[in-house]
Amino acid sequence: MLTKESSVLRSTSELLDKVNPRLRSVMIPWIMRHPRIITALGRMSRSFRKCEKLRNGSAERGVIVPPALILSITSACNLQCSGCLAVAAGNVRRMTPSANLSSYDMDHIQWKSIIKQGNELGVFCYIVGGGEPFMYGRLLDLVGEFRDRLFLIFTNGTAIRETDFERLKSLPNAVIVVSVEGSKDITNDRRGNHVYERAMTAMTHMSSLGILTGISVNINRANVHEWMSSDLLDHFTERGVRLAFLIEHIPTRAVLEGTSIPLDESVLTPDERSAFRTKVLEYKKTKTIFLIHSPGDEEYLGGCVSAGRGFAHVAPSGDLTPCPVSNVATHNLTRSTLEEGLRSPLFTEIRANEHLLETEGMPCALFAHPDEVVELAERVGAYRAGERS
Ligand code: SF4
Repeated sequence: MLTKESSVLRSTSELLDKVNPRLRSVMIPWIMRHPRIITALGRMSRSFRKCEKLRNGSAERGVIVPPALILSITSACNLQCSGCLAVAAGNVRRMTPSANLSSYDMDHIQWKSIIKQGNELGVFCYIVGGGEPFMYGRLLDLVGEFRDRLFLIFTNGTAIRETDFERLKSLPNAVIVVSVEGSKDITNDRRGNHVYERAMTAMTHMSSLGILTGISVNINRANVHEWMSSDLLDHFTERGVRLAFLIEHIPTRAVLEGTSIPLDESVLTPDERSAFRTKVLEYKKTKTIFLIHSPGDEEYLGGCVSAGRGFAHVAPSGDLTPCPVSNVATHNLTRSTLEEGLRSPLFTEIRANEHLLETEGMPCALFAHPDEVVELAERVGAYRAGERS
């Protein structure tokens, strides 16, 4: 006779296998070492299946709802990393420790409303970024309020307070993904003195508390050589990290600037891109850490998953954009509903023009078709996110 726990474990295992067999083989051993989260997993598995049904119902009503919504929850950040994409996209405004951006950023009630709308439409996962999400004081209130939804929180790891660590122990629906560049020197060079040490301390502490952690890496010409050796992945895996987001550097220029602005020198060359992809596919077979490679895995899924295909993005101001780097919008969610935004010509036309979602050897599809994106944005009356808040 199966106990309640073992039946939850079995249905979770089936669900993870359906999402990705590799995810199951990495996560089930971790879950077995942290049985206290099994009850929460039962709740989340039921919610995952309910969300699929809700999204199918939404599609029948003509609105494509992504399984994930990216929330740039604050435009504040306590670091000044060189080449910050969030700054280039206008999602970070002032990087001062005591930033008060209430005039620009949405408030707690507005964020709760967006998550409630997303839940009703069938969104299951909220990917929280910024700026630095732990600069947003009520972040864990949101995670605690929506316990049947998954929150992937992308942080620089240096703004998490002791009280946050304690609260995270009782929030198994939160996964903490810490940004690093690679080794200590290369991370501190880009992110600032001692940022690596502080991020590692946070990661090791969270693993010891049984909080599921991951890393996020901006793969660029300065660090790709380090990630071509498996030592780094092994280093993080030994410290309890179970997820790694390997995101190839995207040119830091605004979408609306078209082809006039040259690409930056951090973008991988085509040879580096293909060598790195080969290496990632090898790691996916051999490493006990679950890897997500962008855009490599998207190309595998038929191209870019922005504009509601896989996700959509809400800027700190409330503007709904196709993704965090494509800073164009037609709807602001302080004045429109999420459904109205997802039904917008900006989203429907990007999805309808499938070729716009092909990366064509570039790390980002929208940057592979700059003039067409500008033309489309102008045709649907899009504005630069943050300029109409
Ligand atoms: S921590 Fe993130 S948002 Fe803050 S400056 Fe660095 S890259 Fe930008």
